[in-house]
Amino acid sequence: MADNIDICRNLKSVLERMAVACSARPKELQHIQPRLVAVTKTKPVSMVKDAYACGQRHFGENYVNELLEKSADQELIEKCPEIHWHFIGHLQRNKVNKVLAVPNLYMVETIDSEKLASACNAAWERLENPHRLKVMVQINTSEEKNKHGVRAKEALDLAAFVRNHCPQLELAGFMTIGAFDHDLSKGPNPDFQNLIKIKDTVCSALKLDPLTTELSMGMSNDFEHAIINGSSNVRVGSTLFGARVVKKALETTQGNETSEKSTN
Ligand SMILES: *Cc1c(COP(=O)(O)O)cnc(C)c1O
Repeated sequence: MADNIDICRNLKSVLERMAVACSARPKELQHIQPRLVAVTKTKPVSMVKDAYACGQRHFGENYVNELLEKSADQELIEKCPEIHWHFIGHLQRNKVNKVLAVPNLYMVETIDSEKLASACNAAWERLENPHRLKVMVQINTSEEKNKHGVRAKEALDLAAFVRNHCPQLELAGFMTIGAFDHDLSKGPNPDFQNLIKIKDTVCSALKLDPLTTELSMGMSNDFEHAIINGSSNVRVGSTLFGARVVKKALETTQGNETSEKSTN
């Protein structure tokens, strides 16, 4: 087991904590079955296989090259036929073709412009997939300069664009990363509150079903809080796979400015 990390035990513990959070939700949120996306960025493909062997099926990557490399691993292809990949990083348009061709790509969570949506729509059409590609619109709820995602007030326009002009894409919901340093003792995370508000506004404006429109929010340090507030998709990395060493070079070359903590 790499780095002495017991992935099966960590997975079990996160799933148990998710279940406890589920049971603490108000009645109107209890229909949601939150999904765990295991975030394996910067971690070796062996950890993906180990987690898969323990029953995990949804995995998230946010560097294009890492996703391409891991998803093409021959042993992974043989041993992990039911893997579901989520792309959760900043997607540049010149990488769209490569990412969308990844076998078992399940969802792109980070649509943040009409141009990117159009590029994904066109690429998916060329690939002649029988089903639409699930996407989320990424919102920069904290409006931090170094984060990707559209501002709250642009969310409706982008969601409407996906619905009206991208027939190959299925608008699955909304995603936020949010500020890292929110102190939960001071009350609910405003990023989550904003995302919930955006979802409600867009659902009523576009007549989307609020019961099936998803919220991707919550990471290692706040996934339980996110679930209690209605998250349907939590993205957990370091709690499962150990702290990451920040890969400065990789982040710069890929233009990925997702905030990283070097220690956990
Ligand atoms: C790295 C990352 C995560 C996981 O972060 P942890 O704090 O390690 O759980 C989740 N979402 C995104 C977009 C990320 O880049």
